Amino acid sequence: MSSLQALIVNKLRYHYQNLLEVINLRDLFSKRSIVSELRNPTEDFNLETQAIEYRKELLTGRACRINVKRSERKKQAQTGMGYSELIELSAKNCYFCPTNIKTATPMFPSSLVPEGRIKLGETTVFPNLFPFAKYHAVATVSRQHFLGIDEFTLKQIQDTLKASVKYFHCVKSKDQKAVYPIFSWNFLPPAGASVIHPHVQLTVDEQPTNLAWLYLSACKRYYAKHKENYWMHLLKIEKEHGERFLGEIGEVSWITSYVPLGNDEICGVLHNVSSLYSLDDTSISDLSKGLKRVFTAYTLYGVHSFNLSTFSASSEDESFRLIVRIIARPYPQSYYNNDAGYMERLHEEVIVESMPEKVASDLKEYFG
Ligand SMILES: [Zn+2]
Repeated sequence: MSSLQALIVNKLRYHYQNLLEVINLRDLFSKRSIVSELRNPTEDFNLETQAIEYRKELLTGRACRINVKRSERKKQAQTGMGYSELIELSAKNCYFCPTNIKTATPMFPSSLVPEGRIKLGETTVFPNLFPFAKYHAVATVSRQHFLGIDEFTLKQIQDTLKASVKYFHCVKSKDQKAVYPIFSWNFLPPAGASVIHPHVQLTVDEQPTNLAWLYLSACKRYYAKHKENYWMHLLKIEKEHGERFLGEIGEVSWITSYVPLGNDEICGVLHNVSSLYSLDDTSISDLSKGLKRVFTAYTLYGVHSFNLSTFSASSEDESFRLIVRIIARPYPQSYYNNDAGYMERLHEEVIVESMPEKVASDLKEYFG
């Protein structure tokens, strides 16, 4: 091939690569905008139009709606957590506090964990008293009964993850069928936590949850069709476009989701790991650093309650990457509006109050 031909081929390749990336972005997401009309009483009942985005994640078909005007409302950082009385009262007989944990929390069967509970640093892992999974454990994050969202230390987060992974390995060595682990954190009652003391939930089942199955099977199909890992492809595109890319901390990239499952959603994608079983000290350290930044960044919005959960393959899988998603929940005060209404609970369609691109631009500085 002559040098001129090589030049043309290279130029064409560059052109088509760029073209492909645009097409690929369109292949991942879709958006339809409509307007809704009303006569606004605060504007002399003049006709007003409001734009609503219907967003879809093409991989799974999951959809959400965002009212653009609503998402632009300035968030007021709330103060005066209405939970001080509850925190004080709940501390008196808390089963998860160091004085009670040995006598009041269940122990694992010796065939699963010979010592009865797993301990590491301030973390103790023990069975959930009322499990909703074949293997369902609870792990305390701190010895202290209450910590604010930005008060968790890196070591506390790291130890919680390490102890949790140890638990997952204990289950794996006992039961070859239970292969779908989930690491989750409901932080404070607006996120569904019935116990104030900081704790995470660990489940392992023989089958994935509805949404985990949707992602795992869709990613397998995506890989079979494109010979490429969906999450790594998504990260490449998000990094190039930058609108929803927050940053990279070691082996973990952080983005806001195009089709969030909740408000102010942040998603962490592990570069080299598809399952919770494969987390090692380095990936746990990187993940913990990122989570600490998420918690700190949330304080900018006055967020003090969240749900966190992982999506994990059953073992290393070239079609999948380990994902962690965090969504903000209402501010913990005595009277608050729940953010899950009929759309979320009965129609499984999420009304998102924040624009993912705005969340990314606001919170990016915390990940730099
Ligand atoms: Zn406690």
